[in-house]
Amino acid sequence: MILLKKIKDVNKRLHFLKNKGKLIGFVPTMGALHKGHISLVELSKKNNDVTVCSIFVNPVQFNDPGDFQKYPVAIEKDILLLEKNGVDILFLPSVNEIYPEGIKDLPHYNLGFIETISEGEFRPGHFQGVCQVMHRLLNIVVPDKLYLGQKDYQQCLVIKKLLQLTHIKTEIKICPIIRETNGLAMSSRNVRLNEEDRKKAAAIYKTLIFIKQNIQTKNFNELKKEAAEKLIRSGFDKIDYVEIADANSLELMINRDEKIKILALIAVYLNGVRLIDNMLLN
Ligand code: AMP
Repeated sequence: MILLKKIKDVNKRLHFLKNKGKLIGFVPTMGALHKGHISLVELSKKNNDVTVCSIFVNPVQFNDPGDFQKYPVAIEKDILLLEKNGVDILFLPSVNEIYPEGIKDLPHYNLGFIETISEGEFRPGHFQGVCQVMHRLLNIVVPDKLYLGQKDYQQCLVIKKLLQLTHIKTEIKICPIIRETNGLAMSSRNVRLNEEDRKKAAAIYKTLIFIKQNIQTKNFNELKKEAAEKLIRSGFDKIDYVEIADANSLELMINRDEKIKILALIAVYLNGVRLIDNMLLN
């Protein structure tokens, strides 16, 4: 694995590989890597000649400064893990490399409806920050395929929108959510949970299953209310949302419609740690 910190070195290396006709797969991450990230690397390796991974904790996408400060960092462990899993190039830029002009007065992306709901509503500015970094990373790596996790479902839709707005030709591959054996979706933030919390947090997955099992028979509003009550009983401090939405647009749904692919989304806090998960229901 080659570790590169400078944009010009990534450009040079990738230019050389592209000239040789190599297909480039890209896995952007914020580090503190787990099996979820590695599943994206594996898919990229299977379907491309060269896999590029980035680790960059993007300050611009944290609407909560405390969350940024507490974001787990495990760079040495991450490098070993990526090397072991056959990543070809690791891009490890500094904040200054990505934002040489600073992080104030950045351009606005016109994302429309998708940034007004769920994560967009509860984390104002978050998706603008995601677009800032993704637009830069895509311009640096110019991958054939971009590997994203369904774990951040709304982020996948936002990045699809970003590609439309910027006319970038990269193909998006959305990869399945990798879970712990108790159902808890793997997340870098899980390292901030103690063992008891990790057990408790499995209730998010159980609640998504509960919604899936009852989607055909129960009224959606009632179902969301029962799901929220279940989460509160399971010991979460706070619920940001329990939503049932059109999986293509994330427009909230009130009634069943057999023609529409439906998604349930949950965001909760456990001992101050914010956790999100989702599940396709049909
Ligand atoms: P992050 O480091 O949290 O920014 O995540 C980097 C990429 O890994 C994103 O595309 C995430 O959606 C994806 N990812 C995170 N957790 C999981 C998981 N449990 N299963 C699959 N992909 C994941």
